[in-house]
Amino acid sequence: VAKSEGKNGYQFFSEEINDKVHGELHIEADLRKALRQQGRGLWVAYQPQVDTHTRRLVGVEALMRWNNENGQAVSPGEFIPIAEKTGLITELGGWLLNRICEDLAALRADGIELPKISVNLSPRELREGKTIVDVVLQALKRFGEKVDHFQFEVTENALLADNGPEALNALRQAGFALAIDDFGSGYSSLGYLKRFQVSALKIDRQFIERLPDDEEDAVIVTAVIQMSIALGVKVVAEGVETEAQAEFLSRHGCDVLQGYLTGRPMPPNELASFLRAAERTGRAVSPP
Ligand code: C2E
Ligand code: MG
Ligand code: MG
Ligand code: MG
Repeated sequence: VAKSEGKNGYQFFSEEINDKVHGELHIEADLRKALRQQGRGLWVAYQPQVDTHTRRLVGVEALMRWNNENGQAVSPGEFIPIAEKTGLITELGGWLLNRICEDLAALRADGIELPKISVNLSPRELREGKTIVDVVLQALKRFGEKVDHFQFEVTENALLADNGPEALNALRQAGFALAIDDFGSGYSSLGYLKRFQVSALKIDRQFIERLPDDEEDAVIVTAVIQMSIALGVKVVAEGVETEAQAEFLSRHGCDVLQGYLTGRPMPPNELASFLRAAERTGRAVSPP
């Protein structure tokens, strides 16, 4: 961009956009390459989900991680939206399911059997409809994993995606559990809770962050827990970082905690030692 044109700030602005587009193109190219090389640099972190009252492990959420060619970690908040926009997410999702199955097999060989595995699905993956169900079933079959061991997390907005309802029905029909992720942060009607026989609601971290002091958040969280109990839907609190938050959630009947307090997302080998240590000390998270 010519400097002489930069008088009104317009050029400056478009230069910023240029940088962003350039950055995105770069990430897209790197990601494409990683996928071509059997997912080089890609791995999966597992975050414990624990029973609020016993603090025993009830599940893990699989969260994608990526170290690019230069060894730099690129956050999912950055690369997932790009994968979504470019359609690479479909391939990435296929890679993910296979890697999860490999990780489960390795953990099993190590004597660790995980309870439920929660996997995130983005709107684009739902839009592809039957493909996603086929991809998932194929991976599980190849590794001999059971359908009822898996749960898929979708946001309220994903339910509004084209083909979203059909894809979710297909997943339900195949026997997978569904969780609504980031509950309260999107736009949707509550009708879907009934329509899709949702198994769990995950209360978005933004409502948990200021507990127990923020009165409005306390009211919202309490109401969501009440509603979930009445509907027979499990309720998970996301982003739990303090004992004070956990205590509030426990007192109000929240079933499951997920957050840095009870465990960070970690690679499978770390998860194994984490669970073993918990079992030895008899404190914090322990395997089922
Ligand atoms: P999400 O599914 O809502 O995942 C929860 C996010 O909160 C994760 O961020 C997790 O690391 C973070 N988190 C967990 N506990 C705490 C806590 O106590 N405090 C704070 N501050 N953060 C906490 P992450 O791993 O960066 O993932 C961000 C988002 O990227 C996810 O949000 C999900 O929407 C998306 N994502 C991650 N992995 C995948 C994937 O494999 N497929 C798809 N489609 N999306 C994914
Ligand atoms: Mg999630
Ligand atoms: Mg979430
Ligand atoms: Mg999220």
